[in-house]
Amino acid sequence: MSLFENTLAQIAKASALMGLNPGVRELISRHERILEVSVPVKMDDGTWRVFTGYRCQHNSIRGPYKGGIRFHPDVDLGEVKALSAWMTMKCAVVGIPLGGGKGGIIVDPKKLSARELETMTREYARAITPFIGPEMDIPAPDVYTTGQIMGWIADEYSKIQGRNVLGVVTGKLLAAGGSQGRDTATSQGGMHVLEEYLRESGKTAPGMTVAIQGFGNAGSFMAKFLFEKGFKVVAVSDSKSGLFCVEGLNVPVVMSGKAAKGSVADCLDAGNNCQVITNEQLLTLDVDILVLSALENQVHKDNAETVKAKVVLELANGPVTPEADDILARRGIPVIPDILANAGGVTVSYFELVQNQANYYWSAEEVQAKLKPIMVSAWQAISANAKQYNCTFREAAFISALRRIEDAYKARRSI
Ligand code: NAD
Repeated sequence: MSLFENTLAQIAKASALMGLNPGVRELISRHERILEVSVPVKMDDGTWRVFTGYRCQHNSIRGPYKGGIRFHPDVDLGEVKALSAWMTMKCAVVGIPLGGGKGGIIVDPKKLSARELETMTREYARAITPFIGPEMDIPAPDVYTTGQIMGWIADEYSKIQGRNVLGVVTGKLLAAGGSQGRDTATSQGGMHVLEEYLRESGKTAPGMTVAIQGFGNAGSFMAKFLFEKGFKVVAVSDSKSGLFCVEGLNVPVVMSGKAAKGSVADCLDAGNNCQVITNEQLLTLDVDILVLSALENQVHKDNAETVKAKVVLELANGPVTPEADDILARRGIPVIPDILANAGGVTVSYFELVQNQANYYWSAEEVQAKLKPIMVSAWQAISANAKQYNCTFREAAFISALRRIEDAYKARRSI
C-alpha cells in the first residue's frame, strides 16, 4: 500500500464510524493541485544537475494550503501526496484556519555544498512561486530543511514580487520574521498532549522511561522537555544508530555532543555505561513511552509485535503503518497520532503567519500561552470521540478533523 493509500484507508475508517457526507469524502480523496518541477543547479565542479521537486496542494476548504518542504533522497510523489493530506487533517484537528499542502525535492542535502544548497532552494522557490503566497500556500521546514532555507525562499519570493512578503513561508529564523517558540513548537505541543493523556489515564509516575527515535528538531527538543520534567530518557537515535543508558541519558550532553560530533552514538559520556544500539533495538525497548520522531513507516507489520512500550507518541508523520496500527491496537498499546501529537508545529507556524501579516510580533510567553489551550482542547475532543465511538485515538482524531472539514463544506457549498 502506498503512503497515500494508507491515508485514504485512515479517512475511510473514520468516515464509516462518523457517517461522513459522501460528497465530502469524494472531494478529500483527491488533491486540488499537484506540481512537479525541475530544479536546475550548476554544481561546484561546473556540471549541471536537474533535481525533481514537488508541491502538493491537497485541500483548501478551511484556508490556504500549509505544510513543510522536505529535502531527502527518498522523497516521492506518493509520500508528498500523503503528507499534504495529513496536513489538511492536522490543521482541522487543532482548528486553525488552514488547509493542507506539502513539498519536497529528491536530494541528499548532506552531499551538497552550502552554495549548491542555496542555489537549489532558490530555483525551487522560483519554480513554485506562482502557486504559493500568504493567502494561497505557505510552506515551512520539514526533514532536512531549516530556518535558513526558509529565509532563502522568503527572499527569493520577495525579490520576484518586488516587495517583502515574509508570510510566504514559516519556520524562518527570528531575524527574518520568524516566531518566538517555532523551533520548539512541535515538541512543546507533543508534551502538552502527552501530559494530558498521562493525567487522564492516571499513568503519571516519577521517572517514567522514554525511548526516542530521531534526534532532529522534533526529537531533540522532546528529549529536552521530557528530561527537564523528570522523565528518564533511556534511549535516543538518529539516522546512523542509537544510544542507550538504563539509568537515563543526560539529554543536554547528548544535544551538545550531537551538535559537535554529528551523531548520538558519539555521546557515550551522556550517562553511566552508555551503549550503542541499533534503531531496530530502540523500537523494542521495554519503556513506558516510545516517541517516534524520525520518518514514516518505522513501526510496521514485521516489528509491531516486538514493541514493548506502554504508549506510542507519533511526533513524526506516519511512523506507524496501518497494519502496525491494528497490531498495536489489538495488543492494547495506545498510539497518540501524528495529526494531533505533532500539530504544535503547524499551530505556531500559523501564529508566525499572523504576526508577519500584522507586522506585529509576540513574546515567547504569548506564544506559549496561545499554544497550550489549542493542544489541550484538541486532545479533549479526541479523547471524547474515542470514548463515544469506541475507537482508537487515530480514528478519533480523523473524526475531529473530518467533522470540521465537513462543516466548512456545508457552510460554503450545497453538499
Ligand atoms: P530533522 O531533519 O530535524 O530530524 C530528523 C531526524 O531523524 C534526524 O535526527 C535524523 O538523523 C533522524 N533519522 C532519519 N532517518 C532515521 C532513521 N531511519 N532512524 C532513526 N532516525 C532517523 O526533522 P524534524 O523536523 O525533526 O522532523 C522529524 C519528523 O517530524 C518528520 O516526520 C517530520 O515530518 C515530523 N514533523 C516535524 C515538525 C517540525 O516542526 N520540525 C512538525 C511536524 C512534523
